[in-house]
Amino acid sequence: MIVVMTPDATQDDLAGVQARLAEAGYGAHLSQGEKRTIIGVIGAGDDEKQTFADQVESLPGVERVIFVLKPYKLVSQESRSDRSVVEVGEARFGGPNLVVCAGPCSVESHEQILECARAVKAAGAQVLRGGAFKPRTSPYDFQGLGETGLDMLAAARDETGLPIVTEARAVKDVELVAEKADVIQIGARNMQNYDLLQAAGESGAPVLLKRGLSATIDEWLKAAEYIAATGNLKIILCERGIRTFETTTRNTLDIAAVPVAQKLTHLPIVVDPSHAGGRRDLVLPLSMAGIAAGADGLIIEVHPQPDRALSDGAQSLTPDAFSELMIQVRTVSEVVGKPLPVMAGKGVEGASWEP
Ligand code: PEP
Ligand code: MN
Repeated sequence: MIVVMTPDATQDDLAGVQARLAEAGYGAHLSQGEKRTIIGVIGAGDDEKQTFADQVESLPGVERVIFVLKPYKLVSQESRSDRSVVEVGEARFGGPNLVVCAGPCSVESHEQILECARAVKAAGAQVLRGGAFKPRTSPYDFQGLGETGLDMLAAARDETGLPIVTEARAVKDVELVAEKADVIQIGARNMQNYDLLQAAGESGAPVLLKRGLSATIDEWLKAAEYIAATGNLKIILCERGIRTFETTTRNTLDIAAVPVAQKLTHLPIVVDPSHAGGRRDLVLPLSMAGIAAGADGLIIEVHPQPDRALSDGAQSLTPDAFSELMIQVRTVSEVVGKPLPVMAGKGVEGASWEP
C-alpha cells in the first residue's frame, strides 16, 4: 500500500499519517520528492483492509492511497506462476486445446436436448450446454423446465458422454445443479449475486462465471474471487458481451477482455459469441475473433429448430450450421496454436470433419 501526500501537505500532516500507520502496526518508508511525499507502507500485504485505506485517505494532507497488489488475490495472475486448467470430463479448459461447449439456450424436451447433444458431439463439441433454470428479462417468458430439464440433460449426458454445463439461477438451485450437472453456470444477471457465488463455490463443482452486462473486468474478477475464497478454484470465466450504446447487436463483444483478463488472472476464459451478438450471422465471425484473441474456448447456442426455440432462437445455429462453423473453428484454432483435440467427435457417425 502506498500513501500519496498532497503537494501542500505539512510536516504535521505527515507525522499524523505516520502515527496512524504505527498505531495500526505498520512501518513507513518515506520518499520525499521535490513536490510531494510518498509513503510506502511496510507490513501491509495484499490483504490490507480497504476500510483502513479509506480511513488513511481521509487524514489531512493525504491525496490518495494506492494498492500495489490486486484486490482479487486468489484469482490473480500474481498468485501463481502457471495458468490454471479446469477439468470437465475429458475437456481441459485452459489446457493446450480449445474447448467448445454447445447446445440450446433452454432445455425444452427430451427429444430436443438429445438431438442437440448428438449433433454437437458429432461436430466436435466437448461439453453440452442447456438451461433448465432460465434467467429471463421478462417474468412472462419461458422460465425453463427446472429439475425436469436437469434430468433431461443428465439423460443426454448418459447417452453421449458429454459433460453438461447449466445455470443455477438461485442459491436454492445450487445443490441440485451441482448434483446433476458437471459445471454450474452463473449467468450475467447474477454475476454480483454474492450469496449465489459463495454457494456455487462451496458446492465444489466447477463454475462458469459469465461477465455481468455492465460489469468492469475488475468487478468480474472480484466476483470470481468470491468463488475462489470458498476454496474452489475451478472457475472458468466467460466473456458474453457487455451493454454499450450500440443497438445493432444484442451486446458488444469485448474482445480485449480476453487478453486483458488473461494478463490479470490465471483462470481460463471462454467467449460466448451467441449472447454477445444476439444474431445467428455473427456467431461465426465472433467465434473466430475470440479464438484469435486467445480464448480457451467457446460456448455456442445450437437448436434443432431455431424458429421454434422457446428462448434465443435468433442467435441459435442449426446443427448443420454448427458443423460448418466447427470446420472453420478447427482451422483457426490450429493457426493460433490451440487446436481442437483430435479426439473430439472422432468415431461419431455423421461427424462432418476428418480428425
Ligand atoms: C444463457 O447462457 O442462456 C444466458 C442466459 O446467458 P447470459 O447469462 O450470458 O445472458
Ligand atoms: Mn441464451
